[in-house]
Order: sequence, then C-alpha cells, then structure tokens
Amino acid sequence: MKDCIFCKIIQKDIPARIVYEDDLIIAFDDINPQAPIHTLIIPKVHYTSLNDIPLERLDLLGHIMDKIREVAAIKGIAETGYRTVLNTGGDSGQDVFHIHFHVLGGRRMTWPPG
Ligand code: 5GP
Ligand code: ZN
Repeated sequence: MKDCIFCKIIQKDIPARIVYEDDLIIAFDDINPQAPIHTLIIPKVHYTSLNDIPLERLDLLGHIMDKIREVAAIKGIAETGYRTVLNTGGDSGQDVFHIHFHVLGGRRMTWPPG
C-alpha cells in the first residue's frame, strides 16, 4: 500500500534489520526498541489491523504465531521468556496501521502494561 512505512520495508525501499523472512511474513528489529530484544513481525499483505483480517485469512495468524516462536529462538529469548503484543486501534496505542506483532524480551517485563 502506498504511503505505508511497513509496506516500504517489505519492498526494501526503507532499510531494516531483517531477522526472518519468507513468502508470507517478514520480521525486523524495531527502530525504537523498548527492550533489549524488540522485533516486529508483519504479513507481507497489507492489513490495517486485526479487525481487517478476513476469516478466510486467519491461517496467516497461525503462521505468524509459529514464526514468533522461531524469532524468539533466533534472538535467544525462547527459554528466558518474551512478551508478544498486538495493538489494535487508537486506544491501544497503535501508531502504524499495517498489522504487526511486537516480540519483546531480554529483560523482566512488568504488568499491568501502560
Ligand atoms: P505500534 O505503536 O503501532 O504498535 O508500533 C509501531 C512500532 O513500529 C513502534 O514500536 C515503532 O518504533 C516502530 N517503527 C515505526 N517506524 C519504523 C521504521 O521505519 N522502522 C522500524 N524498524 N520500526 C519502526
Ligand atoms: Zn502496509
């Protein structure tokens, strides 16, 4: 999608530190990390948010979940633990409107979230 920063990363028009990539998704390090490990995982097809993914594409979410644990293993936080965050819409703090999962780790997380 035109003017979407994450679509530009997919197209390699904007550089990113890519952690993992396949036909369906790409994972790259967040530009403003909130933990020692902070990686984003996005589908290559542009969906604005969770609300935008049609029922017939829910398989994509299963694939992303599988790759989240693979990214955690690549980053060395599978055993120590990690937090996965999916912000949806204004109140959640979603800033980029191309669905993305945050994977955070390498420090002790707090609860409740801010
Ligand atoms: P949101 O608040 O929408 O859930 O998270 C958006 C995330 O995207 C933020 O953590 C922000 O730091 C990250 N981000 C925004 N622009 C870029 C970019 O150009 N490159 C990378 N690698 N991350 C970005
Ligand atoms: Zn996009």
